[in-house]
Amino acid sequence: MAIYQKILVAIDLTEEAPQVLEKAMALSKAHDSEVVLAHVVEPVGYAYGGDIPMDLTELQEQLDKAAKEKLQSYGEKHGITPENQLVMVGRPESEIHRLSEELSADLVVVGSHGRKGFQLILGSTANGVLHGAACDVLAVRIKT
Ligand code: AMP
Repeated sequence: MAIYQKILVAIDLTEEAPQVLEKAMALSKAHDSEVVLAHVVEPVGYAYGGDIPMDLTELQEQLDKAAKEKLQSYGEKHGITPENQLVMVGRPESEIHRLSEELSADLVVVGSHGRKGFQLILGSTANGVLHGAACDVLAVRIKT
């Protein structure tokens, strides 16, 4: 039986995402695993402190739509089915944890910049995902 049956790949939508996705796809081929591709859109209300009297619904919808289109293009390129392309709204670490448990994923793949010193104390998404993860986590070192 394959070691990893279901791999959850969480990507931001930067130019670094392909590095993370390509590693995950290579692993999935080696292990014959199912791949779920996910992106978490952060609520725009957070960015503005949530106390400005503005309707941010449209902006949120646009971010959501842009994320879905981007995932679709990655999904098509790598043969990931539309049902396995998921866009969620929330905080990345907690959404990735929630989703990995909901899907019973046995591996979560994220990117890591390998930051040191004070940046580590401030934390990164990879650190946040690793702490409290219910399954294995692979942090793919991003090459600049
Ligand atoms: P960061 O610590 O923000 O530089 O992100 C490191 C890695 O965490 C990225 O390469 C992604 O794998 C993952 N990640 C960061 N933000 C998100 C997000 N909004 N949705 C999904 N994955 C994310």
